[in-house]
Amino acid sequence: MLMQGNTPNPEDLHRQMLEGLKDMLNGLPKSSPQDIANELENYGYRGQEKQRQALGLMAYRHIRRLQRIVIDGENRDTLPPKQNVLMLGPTGSGKTYLVELLFQEILKLPTVIVDVTSFTESGYIGDDVKTILTRLILASEGNPMIASCGIVCLDEFDKLASSSSNARFAGQGTTKDVSGYGVQRELLAMLQGAEVVVPMDYGVSEYGQRIRMSTKDIPFIACGAFAGYQDMLESEGGSLGFQESSEADTPNLEEAESFQKYGFLPELIGRFSRIVVFPPLPEETMKLILEKNILPQFKNEFKAEGLKLTISKDAMSHIIKQAHKRGTGARGLHTELVTAIESAAFESFMQVTDAEVRIAVKKGKLQSEVIK
Ligand code: ADP
Repeated sequence: MLMQGNTPNPEDLHRQMLEGLKDMLNGLPKSSPQDIANELENYGYRGQEKQRQALGLMAYRHIRRLQRIVIDGENRDTLPPKQNVLMLGPTGSGKTYLVELLFQEILKLPTVIVDVTSFTESGYIGDDVKTILTRLILASEGNPMIASCGIVCLDEFDKLASSSSNARFAGQGTTKDVSGYGVQRELLAMLQGAEVVVPMDYGVSEYGQRIRMSTKDIPFIACGAFAGYQDMLESEGGSLGFQESSEADTPNLEEAESFQKYGFLPELIGRFSRIVVFPPLPEETMKLILEKNILPQFKNEFKAEGLKLTISKDAMSHIIKQAHKRGTGARGLHTELVTAIESAAFESFMQVTDAEVRIAVKKGKLQSEVIK
């Protein structure tokens, strides 16, 4: 951690931080956009090919841009600006998981995923949007230069929609408008690439150390389900293709207008150079996730108890169907399975060994049975 013990002189500190940044950039994987997109499969990411290609390319360009600026000393103005991405799609379709795996696990870039519903306009009780950058500094072992190249993921972004829009709050009978457009305005500055005065520590008083940071090289990735947005578009004869298309596209003027109706500042939406639409995960992908990601862990646990965990085909389809009904995407797969696994484990662990524990559907419900 920098900035400890005797305070080094500012020049030394600057040099140290720059060295740290160069080391970090030199140490990044030298993978093509295709390699990056494919590598995700090794980390357990299934399906959503177009979406991971779009993000793989975005990650590659982010890294190359930084290497050229910092290591090769190229002028930032001669390169395309950083890219902000808007990811739209239902819950559990793999939006934040993609960000986590790609940037945190594979590339190991400082990455923060924040829930925007915790933010309020500065001066009000709640988190100030500037603290996003504080978290990025903490994720960069205290080196603000490294933090200035990190990734910010704004989760639940659609919840920032101003309640003065009817679309978002239709039928909810609410007029609550805690922050209105205030938070959106503050985010706009950061998305644009502003200089921000950032507290170095999270949650300290106003006397804490502060630092000036630029967001010129920080890509913002906003994620949201935007429920109701699709209906609104359709009622106007348009469509963003939530269901049928898995294309990633660039927002156009018309879309910016519809987002405005939904409750967003058009300037803010205009700061996203890319919209990536995540369709709900199809059954085949859900099956893959269940078979390859979720079950092996439980099988492994049962194996250590001398048991063989198996699951019938019917039970598999049952789990997938139920998850579908819940509308929680891949998130729901785990939920469905867990209760059945728990009762199987309770009945069999330390009670029987060398047996098969089978999960099947009986009377429309998941049941477990021990087969000796
Ligand atoms: P959201 O789209 O709401 O951001 P998440 O990305 O958080 O959804 O997904 C929730 C969980 O579902 C993840 O933690 C992961 O376990 C699982 N999941 C979602 N999508 C995928 C996918 N494409 N491949 C594998 N697992 C997935």
